[in-house]
Amino acid sequence: MPDTQVSPEIVTVACLADNYAFLVHDHLSGATAVFDVPEAAPIMAALAARGWQLSDIVITHHHGDHIDGVAELRAATGAKVWGARADAHRLPPLDHALAEGDRVAIGQLVVHVIDVPGHTVGHVAYHLPAAKAVFTADSLMALGCGRLFEGSAAQMWDSLQKLAALPPDTLVCSGHEYTASNARFALTIEPDNPALISRCEEIASARAANRPTVPSILATELATNPFLRANQSGIAQRLGLDGQEPAVVFARIRSLKDSF
Ligand code: ZN
Ligand code: FE
Repeated sequence: MPDTQVSPEIVTVACLADNYAFLVHDHLSGATAVFDVPEAAPIMAALAARGWQLSDIVITHHHGDHIDGVAELRAATGAKVWGARADAHRLPPLDHALAEGDRVAIGQLVVHVIDVPGHTVGHVAYHLPAAKAVFTADSLMALGCGRLFEGSAAQMWDSLQKLAALPPDTLVCSGHEYTASNARFALTIEPDNPALISRCEEIASARAANRPTVPSILATELATNPFLRANQSGIAQRLGLDGQEPAVVFARIRSLKDSF
């Protein structure tokens, strides 16, 4: 027998108007997890189309557009629900309450839990090294990051730094199709970044053909996402913040985007 390694399969499921959920299927154990449940129906359809049984429901944060389908999906599948212990009081009932540094398993796939406060204080991300993927929802997004509803800019900057330190070939599975508007904003921050300019062209043609721009590759985000690039001196200079801490530059970029 040849020594074969079957890598886990990731399926992007479009939900609601502009949300994404993701299925991760471990071929070795047969386990299947869903990351976030904006609504149950499209996820049930994606499972049925592949003949997969849902084993785990994994939640990133408490907003309705990420959890509103959990009760229905759990009732239909009996899957176990995972989410942040810190937010257990405002999440659906959890079978596994998690915190930073926890390592848990979906079938044989190891999942690392990363606290990423900023958008909400209890937001977590999930890194699956074997899938070379991180599920970031409304923390790091394609060419963007989530709005600061609960946390501070400094917290979000720290959260983004943890995600930026993952292997550059990591697939960033984020929660929304906001990329076209993020691209227009990013060009106002770095109009002369050649990697950004060509990415924006790719995004425009993807959206014109109604193709998703999520997931994206971390290396691409590092080269183009203004929220990850607040530590670039050119950006600080352009914003009149020469010599300031990256968290201060990040805060300015975030507030400019809020009113964009
Ligand atoms: Zn949210
Ligand atoms: Fe959201």
